[in-house]
Amino acid sequence: MMFGPLLLGATLLATSPEANPNVVVVLVDDLGWQDTSVPFHDERTPFNDRYHTPNMERLAREGALFTDGYASAPVCTPTRASLLTGRSPARNRITYWTFDRNTDTTRRNPSLEAPAWNLNGVQPGVPLLPELLRSKGYRTIHAGKAHWGAHDTAGADPQALGFDVNIAGHASGAPGSYLGTHRFMNGKSASDFSRSSKWDVPGLERYHDREIYLTEALQERAVEEIDRACSDEVPFFLHFAPYAVHTPIMANVRHLERYEGLDRKEAAYATMIESVDVALGAILEALDRNGVAEETVVVFTSDNGGLSAHGRGGVAHRHNAPLRSGKGSAYEGGVRVPWIIRWPGVAESGGRHDAVVVTQDLFPTILSAASIDPPRDHVIDGRDIRPVLEGATPDRTVLFHQPHTWGASGPGIEPFSAVRSGPLKLIFFHGDRRFELYDLESDPGETMELSRRNPQELRRMRDLMHQELISQQAQLSIDRSSGLPVVLPAIIRSDTHPGDDT
Ligand code: CA
Repeated sequence: MMFGPLLLGATLLATSPEANPNVVVVLVDDLGWQDTSVPFHDERTPFNDRYHTPNMERLAREGALFTDGYASAPVCTPTRASLLTGRSPARNRITYWTFDRNTDTTRRNPSLEAPAWNLNGVQPGVPLLPELLRSKGYRTIHAGKAHWGAHDTAGADPQALGFDVNIAGHASGAPGSYLGTHRFMNGKSASDFSRSSKWDVPGLERYHDREIYLTEALQERAVEEIDRACSDEVPFFLHFAPYAVHTPIMANVRHLERYEGLDRKEAAYATMIESVDVALGAILEALDRNGVAEETVVVFTSDNGGLSAHGRGGVAHRHNAPLRSGKGSAYEGGVRVPWIIRWPGVAESGGRHDAVVVTQDLFPTILSAASIDPPRDHVIDGRDIRPVLEGATPDRTVLFHQPHTWGASGPGIEPFSAVRSGPLKLIFFHGDRRFELYDLESDPGETMELSRRNPQELRRMRDLMHQELISQQAQLSIDRSSGLPVVLPAIIRSDTHPGDDT
């Protein structure tokens, strides 16, 4: 994999880079649709001017971006599981975030209970993306936050899920601290370092007691692994998943000066974003330096929408504007995220697509890039993105499904199912069985609820949702009063609304 342009013919004779491109997936944690200087909206926003992400800009210039790209879910583990399995959170029955073994992290809700979901998250035994790549000769490298399987289960360890190399990944979804001087631990001083906690980041002892930010340590280790794979001439899959920009929101002081006008919390948040961008830049530079950029697919996205309900400065639920709400929510702020793909020879440089794509699409897309047939009898929900990059505009319906009450409160933060089809999105809130219908093309902020105005589309979208829930064997919330799963209300007449008293 170490050949310059003059030797390309010889490379093709040996191992075709077209058949075995390297794959880098940068899966940022909680990075919102507006947490970048790259405009994903159809006009620049104040957030695009606030944040400084020149390497994301570079990637978007050299690759293609998706304006309507989604995370599989509004919280961490379900999206991460969908990347590994190609299946939706509903089909995986990994519909919420995991932590302790056999322990439900769902917040208590007065009227609903979560269904019997996979409390332990991803476990060995099903076909997983890194394993499939490894079987084709790839070196598979995970760096950063894993959060696939619960503590004290096999799935807590990325090496049990098909990764040859695990840098700092385990069952927890946040670091105790971002600072090397804190040893990335929950305890923040020397007297605390003898007390371990489940939030301590494992495996980075080399950086303990040093003035280094967690994202920088992960970046350094990831670049070392890129160099090593290139030196060994093996194709590699790098899953670079920085713990940032998840809480605890802690500044990287190296970047603070640029954000002087912001309140302290938001300035710290902006430095977390910039640190991720610097890491992306270092990865791109390592690909250049090793001469493999032209034979490497690079994907940049996030595992859910930006945090906005709590823990931030500024106005709550407005950090993803013009999208509504944020992490945890059924609204677009919860699930629409940055999506950029640089794929030499496939993605048009500077391309801008409005096709709907979602995290589980990366499973068949990456397998296709690596010329690996998807495993038989493993039903998947993701779709190969390559035809879209080549100009196709396929019809599709994407189901979002979170039958759980999240820890914080805010707009759309309720147990829900939702479908996106064309420009329309229908949300079904399990608690009061209400439907909300939006046209995202004209109203990305979900401000104009259309179900009364457009009962025919309401009925059509309700039927689509029903089909998707059935075909993905989705488990709806359990009604505490009856002990039975919630059912979708029938829409009997096109001129009535389920809430109408008729
Ligand atoms: Ca997340």
